Amino acid sequence: MEKMMDAIVKPVAGVGLELRRVPVPVPGPGEVLIKVHKTAICGTDVHIYNWDPWAAEHIKPPMTIGHEYVGEIAALGDGVKGVEIGQRVSGEGHITCHHCRNCHSGNIQWCKNTVSVGVDRDGAFAEYVCIPETNLILIDESLPEDVVAFFDAFGNATHTALMWNLVGEDVLITGAGPIGIIAAGICKYAGARRVVITDLNDYRLGLARKMGVDAAVNTGREELQAVMKEQGLVEGFDVGLEMSGSGVAFRQMVGLMRNGGKISLLGLGNKPIELDMNQIIGKGLTLQGIYGRRMDNWHQMSYMVQGGLDLTPVITHRFHYTEFEEGFAAMNSGNSGKVILDWTK
Ligand SMILES: [Zn+2]
Ligand SMILES: [Zn+2]
Repeated sequence: MEKMMDAIVKPVAGVGLELRRVPVPVPGPGEVLIKVHKTAICGTDVHIYNWDPWAAEHIKPPMTIGHEYVGEIAALGDGVKGVEIGQRVSGEGHITCHHCRNCHSGNIQWCKNTVSVGVDRDGAFAEYVCIPETNLILIDESLPEDVVAFFDAFGNATHTALMWNLVGEDVLITGAGPIGIIAAGICKYAGARRVVITDLNDYRLGLARKMGVDAAVNTGREELQAVMKEQGLVEGFDVGLEMSGSGVAFRQMVGLMRNGGKISLLGLGNKPIELDMNQIIGKGLTLQGIYGRRMDNWHQMSYMVQGGLDLTPVITHRFHYTEFEEGFAAMNSGNSGKVILDWTK
């Protein structure tokens, strides 16, 4: 008889999710079955819950969602070698083709045939998830599981922040969502002089302060130029990390960069953004779009946490998975950082 498990499923097109009994996946050749311990809710999951236009275009119900998780290896498919049942793991959520030009050059984050766990195929908000062994990430037992649960988001932040030299640099982060706040922690850890973060949400700016930013600015009522002066900035920001997807925030960032500044862009907007190209050209700015993370980022993340980077301030809620509705309500309220769901009992 087929083994069954609990899973958080998008049952049909429309708002909401459902806790359902579904078959435990069976790992095929080259695949690994993972028993899930903890998961974290991502902005992507909230889009799927709310069934916005992006979700309606990308999600094919019924399917299990979720892609931020930590667990242990529960079963190995044929041909999987070098790992053992019981090892603690997470997984790279982008399953790449291994054959395109970017895959061949090691830039898997740019694979043109990416299939995403919890978006294009069944995800990790379940007692078990199945992924190819090439996507498996071994996780050291010294790392706290609540933090490893959101390594996927930490990876986005790592890739965005470590794109540029940060030592002695002044960094502006627009958008204090969980990834922006985590990126702020990384920038301080990596040696930035000043890290300034902006948002319109005071709760999230408060979390960013706990992460150790030099200034958390509500641009709805505070003047960013005055803050720059207070912080001793003379020529503008050296590095910009755009995490909001907001045209207003991005244009402000471009205006406040020093000549020769570097910007990485992670925040996806819901509409095209108008830009003054002359400013980008005149200032000689470098713009880098960021998608996903590099495989090497997973190692950097583990080592930064072992080296003392404390990401626990970004965790604001913990629920049992059967209370997922409360978790999504917290995310939708805007008054949350990372929300962790426990699958261990
Ligand atoms: Zn995510
Ligand atoms: Zn590829």
